[in-house]
Amino acid sequence: MIVHLEQGINDHAKQGIIATITEAGFKTNEVKTQSAHYLVCIGSRDVDLRRVGYLQGVKDVFHISDAYKLVSRKWRVEPTSIDLGDGVRIGEGSMAIMLGPCSIENEEKTLHTVQHLKEQGVRMMRGGVFKPRSSPYAFRGSGIEGLKMFHAICKEHGIKIITEVMEISQIEPMYPYIDVFQVGARNSLNFNLLDALGSTDKPVMIKRGISGTIEELLYSAEYVFSGGNEKVILCERGIRTFERAARNTFDVNAIPILKDKSHLPVVVDPSHGVGIREYVIPIALAGVIAGADGVIAEIHERPEEALSDSQQTLSFQESAMLINRVRKTFDLRQSFNV
Ligand code: PEP
Ligand code: MN
Repeated sequence: MIVHLEQGINDHAKQGIIATITEAGFKTNEVKTQSAHYLVCIGSRDVDLRRVGYLQGVKDVFHISDAYKLVSRKWRVEPTSIDLGDGVRIGEGSMAIMLGPCSIENEEKTLHTVQHLKEQGVRMMRGGVFKPRSSPYAFRGSGIEGLKMFHAICKEHGIKIITEVMEISQIEPMYPYIDVFQVGARNSLNFNLLDALGSTDKPVMIKRGISGTIEELLYSAEYVFSGGNEKVILCERGIRTFERAARNTFDVNAIPILKDKSHLPVVVDPSHGVGIREYVIPIALAGVIAGADGVIAEIHERPEEALSDSQQTLSFQESAMLINRVRKTFDLRQSFNV
């Protein structure tokens, strides 16, 4: 059950509501987000919602049968759309395109990518500065100095930044230079990190874990939301299966399932999803047709020279093809709904 409290409710009224709910056999969790105040109530008994709904200070009350609550579509029926400012949005009714290298390299390459994105009308750039690499000897990113350079170039050209945060201590130094925090697949179940991101007011995109279930991804999103941050985005990036022909198995099923179970925007990452350059565009389009609200993919001016994930990185020419086809496919999907 979610109890939506009146904004500015006094402590006396709140304690009265908590007492009634506790007496009915529920454990209450108070959640204050950027825009609202809730009690998320966990319990197995049936309760007459009217008994709670009539209490002073209650705006609305909802019964949610799902194990996750705040990210459930049973509660918030309208899909969430996240405003990044300057006309950039992620969510229902639009197609967010986020492109860039796996890792931010140098100033010249970053500028060339920004110029390519501008020519194509793309408003968001991806690029890691803290890289989770399987081998400790591989390139591990250009760090906070790289991020400052990335930010200076993007700011000048009106491009928003999405980049991965790997640990709690990085949140604060990264904060001024990013627009969306990305939680990588390896950190998808790092509950301390997710909790800490609940205290920020910038959007958080959570990638599905390498062996993560759809339900686990929704629970991870619930961590951030219940920590106080409503701006959460889900990302399908492929999972590890017995199949070895591709780097990962892109789970196209996850897209309509996540859209159905949650009100949060769903983004697809075909680059990590398949891991093979030639297949990135068709997999992206499959994600768009299946209902994705955005695509995040890896591009580089000379993919074969990229410092990480070069085998799945598209050239600028391929990137232009991806953008064009994603937009056309999105328009086609929209036409199905009318
Ligand atoms: C990335 O986006 O470059 C990345 C490391 O992704 P993932 O966490 O999905 O492996
Ligand atoms: Mn990568």
